[in-house]
Amino acid sequence: MRPLRAVFDWSALAANYALARRTARGARVFAVIKANAYGHGDLKAAEALRDADGFALLEIERAMELRDRGFRQPILLLEGFFSPDELAAAEAYRLSVVIHCFEQLRMLAAARRRGRLDVFLKINTGMNRLGFSPSEFASAWAQIKASAAVESVTLMTHFATADEPDEGVAAQLERFNALTAGLRLPRCLANSAALLRYPETHGDWVRPGIMLYGASPFPDRSAEALGLKPVMTLESEVIAVQSLQAGDRVGYGGLFTAPHPMRVGTVACGYADGYPRHAGTGTPVLVNGVRTRTLGRVSMDMLSVDLTPVPEAGVGARVTLWGEGLPVDEVARAAGTISYELLCRLASRVPRQDR
Ligand SMILES: *Cc1c(COP(=O)(O)O)cnc(C)c1O
Repeated sequence: MRPLRAVFDWSALAANYALARRTARGARVFAVIKANAYGHGDLKAAEALRDADGFALLEIERAMELRDRGFRQPILLLEGFFSPDELAAAEAYRLSVVIHCFEQLRMLAAARRRGRLDVFLKINTGMNRLGFSPSEFASAWAQIKASAAVESVTLMTHFATADEPDEGVAAQLERFNALTAGLRLPRCLANSAALLRYPETHGDWVRPGIMLYGASPFPDRSAEALGLKPVMTLESEVIAVQSLQAGDRVGYGGLFTAPHPMRVGTVACGYADGYPRHAGTGTPVLVNGVRTRTLGRVSMDMLSVDLTPVPEAGVGARVTLWGEGLPVDEVARAAGTISYELLCRLASRVPRQDR
């Protein structure tokens, strides 16, 4: 069997959720399990978080599956419903729905059931992606208040720059507070970054995603420093060793040239497995637990690593691409992206196992 596999430590997921809950200090915590739980497997993740206060995701089919499997806590559809059929299904399955636009309100006005729907009313306070603008808000709120279908309303917004130390969150929060000042309604504002960095955003519900999987939402603070543990470890083995002379080149395009004689390991993991092709020479990797670097271009099924710091390593040597001992954030940075993308993109061909 090809030695590449993704190994999941579900106890780390539970520990990270517990940390989110401690940090939230009384606010309830939606576990964000969209994008197949950031590549980890949404059903597995939900099982590991059986007692979570709630779950948040996008596809109604996934939410219904959780209900069918006996999850009774709130399940929030982060983009709401896309058609009247979905609205009816959300009511029947008692799913919480984001309402962010007037098209959804028109569907709501035509809804037949009464008093069944838990609505998260989304306000656009500056992200300019989803939500009612400050000038639209009063009209949206009036329509929701008048709807017989609605059982509860929670006010929601999303921050554009909670991962950066700038004034953006304060400005968005001020806009949100000014708009909703008179309303005694629960609030749901914070993603991982806001939860960790801005206690004033906690409100009644928080919605962390990335921190649950053990990665940092911040460019300047490591997951370890935040007390987070990696859930996914991508592991493989060296499947071939090449001994290079000075001037020999490695991989497609010959992008790396050996400056002196050296041993190079070929690892069973490539971009078709979800490893980023943009990760150039020097991307960190562990061989037998020793930190070394990739060399040259990542190919579809393989990549090359420098065995200089691990002279004993040969075919069969253990390789960690990211996870335990090697933060996915570091690999993402070397590839010019963020951990979210690497985790989400784990390819379906990679076998998965529980730690
Ligand atoms: C994805 C998402 C989150 C979680 O964000 P993280 O940065 O992963 O914590 C929270 N809220 C909304 C609306 C989202 O789309």
